[in-house]
Amino acid sequence: MKLGFIGLGVMGGPMAGHLAKAGHEVTVYNRTRSKADAWVAKYGGHAAATPAEAAAGAQIVFSCVGNDDDLRQVTIGPEGVFHGMSRGSVFVDHTTASAAVAVELESAGRDRGLACLDAPVSGGQSGAEQGILTVMVGGDAAAFEIAQPVIAHYARAVTLMGASGSGQKTKMVNQICVAGVVEGLAEGLAFALHAGLDAKKVLSVISKGAATSWQMENRGDTMVDGKFDFGFAVDLMRKDLRIAMEEARANGAELPATALIDQFYAKLQKQGHGRMDTSSLMKLLSDR
Ligand code: NAP
Repeated sequence: MKLGFIGLGVMGGPMAGHLAKAGHEVTVYNRTRSKADAWVAKYGGHAAATPAEAAAGAQIVFSCVGNDDDLRQVTIGPEGVFHGMSRGSVFVDHTTASAAVAVELESAGRDRGLACLDAPVSGGQSGAEQGILTVMVGGDAAAFEIAQPVIAHYARAVTLMGASGSGQKTKMVNQICVAGVVEGLAEGLAFALHAGLDAKKVLSVISKGAATSWQMENRGDTMVDGKFDFGFAVDLMRKDLRIAMEEARANGAELPATALIDQFYAKLQKQGHGRMDTSSLMKLLSDR
């Protein structure tokens, strides 16, 4: 297929790479041009000067940028993909953004004869590189049928959750759960250290029981070692929790622990640790 891809960051770069490796004809756009040139040198394809140019003639256009405003800029902005896409083509957004912007873009796309899917991902940098992301999708079922086999080049699960915005709302649930699990793990490990236990031995025992989690299995030992350079950053987590709390204000859900953990992440940012990974909650509880 002829595809466009906007945003070649930590996530978008390898995702677009899987599409090229699968034999699709991919035209990429990246705001910082040098990243697009490096991507083309590695994977082939073409680099475009604007998002609209990357979208011209593509059957599906993908994006993976920072936040709601970035997303608006690369879609409905003056040089955005909506100005380059043909009627009947599909736009798939992998940014973690609000459900409101997903609905806004779906409506703006429909006016132009475009189908839009919100499709945030879980699995982090390594999931993108290995092509094993989990993708949660909101939008039209017919557009999903077209996009699903293409997204599958970098995903192990691609699921339609419901109408536009449902993918983003599912990602919010994911982030609410991750925040709570990481704080629980940090408190447990800090307690183990204060209690004079061998924290790694504790992990090896309790990870075989009801307390186990992906975070425990993948971050437990590194938290004990005081290493917090393993992917998803505090700055991005705060964006995601803000989005979730705004949605909760609108739908009436209560997020008391999430709000508190968001403040712990704010404290880490104030201490200059915004680029550390989310397991750095441990730093607030121990001298690690
Ligand atoms: P990143 O490495 O910072 O990449 C962001 C990309 O978006 C870059 O290509 C950047 O261009 C581009 N961009 C940002 N603002 C733009 C704008 N206004 N106009 C045009 N391009 C713009 O971020 P990432 O880690 O790939 O994350 C991307 C999205 O995936 C975020 O929403 C994030 O929350 C989500 N996500 C990330 C992870 C993770 O582990 N990193 C996991 C799941 C979901 P430049 O190169 O010019 O800066």
